[in-house]
Amino acid sequence: MTETADVVVIGAGVQGASLAFHLARRGASVVVVERASVAAGATGRSSGFVRMHYDVEAESRLAWASLPWFREWADRVGEGSCDFVHTGFVQLVPPDLVAALRANVAMHRRVGIDAQLIDAAEVARLLPGVVTDDVEVAGYEPLSGYADPTATASGFLAAARRAGARYLGGTRASVVVESDRVVAVTTDKGRITTPVAVDAAGAWAAEVAATAGVEVPVEAWRHDTAYFGLPDGRDARFPIVIDQAHEVYFRPEGRDMMLVGLESGNTIGGSPDRPQEEMSGATLDAMVDAICARLPWMEAGTLRTAHGGQDGITPDQHAILGQAGPDGFYLDCGHSGTGFKTAPAVGLCLAELILDGAARTVDISPFALDRFAAGRPIAPEHPYGPLWR
Ligand SMILES: Cc1cc2nc3c(=O)[nH]c(=O)nc-3n(C[C@H](O)[C@H](O)[C@H](O)COP(=O)(O)OP(=O)(O)OC[C@H]3O[C@@H](n4cnc5c(N)ncnc54)[C@H](O)[C@@H]3O)c2cc1C
Repeated sequence: MTETADVVVIGAGVQGASLAFHLARRGASVVVVERASVAAGATGRSSGFVRMHYDVEAESRLAWASLPWFREWADRVGEGSCDFVHTGFVQLVPPDLVAALRANVAMHRRVGIDAQLIDAAEVARLLPGVVTDDVEVAGYEPLSGYADPTATASGFLAAARRAGARYLGGTRASVVVESDRVVAVTTDKGRITTPVAVDAAGAWAAEVAATAGVEVPVEAWRHDTAYFGLPDGRDARFPIVIDQAHEVYFRPEGRDMMLVGLESGNTIGGSPDRPQEEMSGATLDAMVDAICARLPWMEAGTLRTAHGGQDGITPDQHAILGQAGPDGFYLDCGHSGTGFKTAPAVGLCLAELILDGAARTVDISPFALDRFAAGRPIAPEHPYGPLWR
C-alpha cells in the first residue's frame, strides 16, 4: 500500500475522530490510523461527563465551545448519535474551597457559560436524599449532562469517512521525519506520504511522539469506575455530580443505575501495554463509603460491574495541543482524564491551526508543549488542587 494524505491522524479515540471530522469536512484529505479499533483506549472506558466547570478558563472555554456539538449532534455531525442525556451538573466542594468555587463560577459566567450558584435547599431538590450539612453553596450548570463516548467517537469517524477520510484499523503507526519536517507515516500495512502527522494516541502518545524525535511528558493514568444498581424506589433522574468533599463523582446510567468514579487513588506510570488489573476491594470500599456519605440511601444499592481505563496524563494535568518539534508534527494528547467533553472543540481548533495557521474558535496557545520546558505549567487562578492522582 502506498497512499498520500494532507494529514494523517494517529489514534481513533474521540480526539482523533473529532479532528478527522473537522479536517475532512473542510476538504482536507485525511487518513486515520488506529492500532486497535475505534474507541479502544480511554474513550471506550470514559464516564462521558459533559460539563464546563473547571478551574482553568481555557479548559472551560473548550468545554463550552464543545457543548453545542453534543446537544445538536444530528444537525452538526449527522452520523450516528452521541446519545447526550441532559441532566444538569452539580459541583460540591468542601468548605475551604467555597471561595474558589464562587470565583470559578464568576469566571464561567464571564465566559458566557450558563453557570449558577445554588444553596443547599436547591441541591436537595435536585438530588433527593442528599446530605447537605457541609454545603454552604454549590455550582450548578443546567445545560450539562453526559454522552456515550464510544458512540461519539464512532459518529465523528463515520462523518469523517462520509466526507472522504480513510480509516486504517488494526494498524500501528510511526512518524517519519526528514530534514526536520514530517514526510510520511509508516504502518505495518505500508507508507502514507504526508506533510502533517497528528499524535492523538492517548496513553501511547509519548511512544508515538518519540518516533518524530519529540519528547512529551505523558504518562499512563489508570482510573476505575463502577456501576451500581439503584435501590428500589429510587430512579436515575438526578444530575451528574462532582463531590469534591468526598473526592468522588457520579451520574445516572440508564434508568436504574449509577456510575461512580473516585477522584483520588489513580495509578500513574508504567507501560500502557501492561494488562488492566481488576478494581481492588479497597477501591470499591472507598467508592461505597464516599457515595453513601453523600447519599445514605445508596447503602441499599448493589454492585453491577466495574471497569477501568487509561488515559495519558501530563505533569500539570492539562492537555498538550499544537505544533511541536519538526514541521508538520502536531500534538493532541495528554488529556489527563478529562478530554472527552472537550473533543469537539479541540478537533475544531486543531483543524483551524493545521489548515489556517491559527485556532480561532478558542485560544489553545496555553496548551503548547513548550510550557513545560519554560517552567510555565498551566496554573489555575482559583485552584481546586491536584485531583485525579
Ligand atoms: C475511566 C475513565 C473515565 C473518564 N471519564 C471522563 C469524563 O467523564 N469526561 C471527560 O471529559 N473525560 C473523561 N475521561 C477522559 C477521556 O475519556 C479521555 O481524555 C479521552 O477519551 C481521550 O481521547 P483520546 O482520543 O485522546 O485517547 P484514546 O481514546 O485513548 O485514543 C487513543 C487511540 O490511539 C491508539 N493508538 C495508540 N498508539 C497508536 C499507534 N502507534 N498507532 C495507531 N494508533 C495508536 C489507541 O489504540 C487508542 O485507540 C475519562 C477517562 C477514563 C480512562
